[in-house]
Amino acid sequence: PERFEATPLAPPDSIFKLTAAYKTDTHPNKINLGVGAYRDDDSKPWVLPVVKKATQLLLNDPTVDHEYLPITGLPEYTAAAARLVFGKDSPVIAEERVASVQTISGTGANHLGALFLSKFYGWNEKRVYLSDPTWVNHHAIFPQAGIPAATYPYYDPQTIGLAFPAFIDALKNAPPRSVFLLHACAHNPTGVDPTHEQWGAVADVMLAKGHYAFFDSAYQGFASGDLEGDAWAVREFVRRNVPLLVCQSFAKNAGLYGERIGALHIVAPSKEGAARIKSQLSVLARAEISNPPAHGARLMSLILNDEELFEEWKGDIRTMAGRIIDMRKELHRLLTEELKTPGNWDHIVNQIGMFRYVGRARSHGPWGPDVGVSGGRAGVG
Ligand code: PMP
Repeated sequence: PERFEATPLAPPDSIFKLTAAYKTDTHPNKINLGVGAYRDDDSKPWVLPVVKKATQLLLNDPTVDHEYLPITGLPEYTAAAARLVFGKDSPVIAEERVASVQTISGTGANHLGALFLSKFYGWNEKRVYLSDPTWVNHHAIFPQAGIPAATYPYYDPQTIGLAFPAFIDALKNAPPRSVFLLHACAHNPTGVDPTHEQWGAVADVMLAKGHYAFFDSAYQGFASGDLEGDAWAVREFVRRNVPLLVCQSFAKNAGLYGERIGALHIVAPSKEGAARIKSQLSVLARAEISNPPAHGARLMSLILNDEELFEEWKGDIRTMAGRIIDMRKELHRLLTEELKTPGNWDHIVNQIGMFRYVGRARSHGPWGPDVGVSGGRAGVG
């Protein structure tokens, strides 16, 4: 008998299926709104000028070879990546309390973080709480690592904003020491982030309940154009001593999607604790990838560690974030001033990052009270 007779056919990934269909479509005005990737004024992928420059430097560097990196990645890269998210003067860095490992972009960081928690977290009830909605892949990554997923209220379709009281209630009602996945900034797919004050309230409850913050940071700098501002929530949680880890990706903010360059940073209570955690992350990484890919790590190490390149990168980030913000303003202006479209469209400019949730018509617009698109298919990337 055929060995894999019982293997059912899985449906294709909806986002990447759409991209394939887009590529074969010959319509001259086609636009792909599915995948979360930055496009320039000509709807083309944008290779950051600073990345071109760093690539050239690597090409001209006679010491660059194709040997293996260490299991936990290029040390100059992981150290600089940690400084970027926690801040270079962060006490957790000075005290060497961060276990940092290079990962296969943000997805790999989520996966390795999940796998580590699955094996080593002191669980009350093994479960991760994901925002409703969230990046669709979160729902696959955690169960795959042996952690069942539950959801907490996040998005309120009535206000097209944060379901703040329900979010706080969920934090309060979860068993002590629960793990909550939080989007560091530019929430995917809603574009709705808590305010500083709301983050503070979230941190208060998490501390009181002993919860653990699993931060997913895929858009630092990409949301506001400011690397520091977009790291605010992570740094505030660190400042308050909320136990946490951070998944970091350079896919979007450096336009390195296909290079698969990211990092996992786990903050430990002590330097010795960080060393133990890192030793186990190394064991997990060894069995899965042996060593991470070198090219993206070398590029980001150059950009993060060279003052001039770093300044140039910040300029490129402002170009991307600025364009996204301008597009939001222009769409809002066209809908309201130019086309006088009924309804309130302010959420377009209030939401942040690449994604927009269209919510539903609030005032009784031409579609009636409850009609309109949920935008529920926007969770991409
Ligand atoms: N987390 C979130 C919230 C994302 O939106 C994405 C990208 N779509 C990722 C993680 C991971 O992306 P990558 O693996 O390409 O870094």
